[in-house]
Amino acid sequence: MSAPLTLREVILAARRRFSEAQIDNAATDARVLIAGLLGLSMTDLVVDDGRIVTEEEGALIEAAVQRRLNHEPVHRILGKREFYGLDLALSPATLEPRPDTEILVEGLLPYLQAMVEAKGTARFLDMGTGTGAIALALLGECPGTAALATDISSEALKTAENNAALHGLDGRFHTLRSDWFDEVQAKFDMIVSNPPYITSQVVSELEPEVRLFDPLAALDGGADGLDAYRVIAKGAGAHLEPDGIVGLEIGFDQKDSVTALFLSNGFLLLEAKCDHGGQDRVLIFRLKPS
Ligand code: GLN
Repeated sequence: MSAPLTLREVILAARRRFSEAQIDNAATDARVLIAGLLGLSMTDLVVDDGRIVTEEEGALIEAAVQRRLNHEPVHRILGKREFYGLDLALSPATLEPRPDTEILVEGLLPYLQAMVEAKGTARFLDMGTGTGAIALALLGECPGTAALATDISSEALKTAENNAALHGLDGRFHTLRSDWFDEVQAKFDMIVSNPPYITSQVVSELEPEVRLFDPLAALDGGADGLDAYRVIAKGAGAHLEPDGIVGLEIGFDQKDSVTALFLSNGFLLLEAKCDHGGQDRVLIFRLKPS
């Protein structure tokens, strides 16, 4: 049997194997993965780096390192990811929430808060909710609101419901299996979505971490990436209260095309926001009074 290894040695070994396999962010991934597996904070990892890794822990880490070497992202291996301060469970049917999507949440909060101030409550529809990330972050930040979250995948809805319950938000979070607006009947003060927006061609060229592990249905926006926006632009007016808001995540080169779709369906562009890399990422529209 080999000599017991310290935490530090195990982290360094994982980092080395990730580097050799040309995994991006080898150092961070090794630390985040091992901390997550052992239930340690990043501080524990440094303070406790001389601690001996048990045989059982070593086996757990080895299995996870193998999965990362097969391109599975760290948070998929851990089964959860933090979004807007909420730990969210992932499943194969859900997109892994990205930090850029927090900009959509941040951009919509003032509108939602203004609605709650004006009327005491606000109801919003989150289309293609996945883990529930956007809806749960908005609900968590904005008391007095309620959400209907749709997805075409019932497995995704189960994950989203579990996430809502985990954070005590299930009383204000309702789900409906629906292909975009097909099953949606009510009207809302706001519609939000991070729909699939990558062109089918580009999806097939994405890095394996995304292409093999995020669900295709959450990524592929059709030949020009705009399929979902066409459906949302066409249906949103009929599902919004007067002055209703639509907030969307978009691809970096879709600001003009998505804006054109919404302008021609009775909306005004209120705001466009960039992501952490300075790319167009969020559009917010208001329904024009009829
Ligand atoms: N932002 C995601 C990515 O880069 C795409 C998500 C989407 O299509 N809505 O992989």
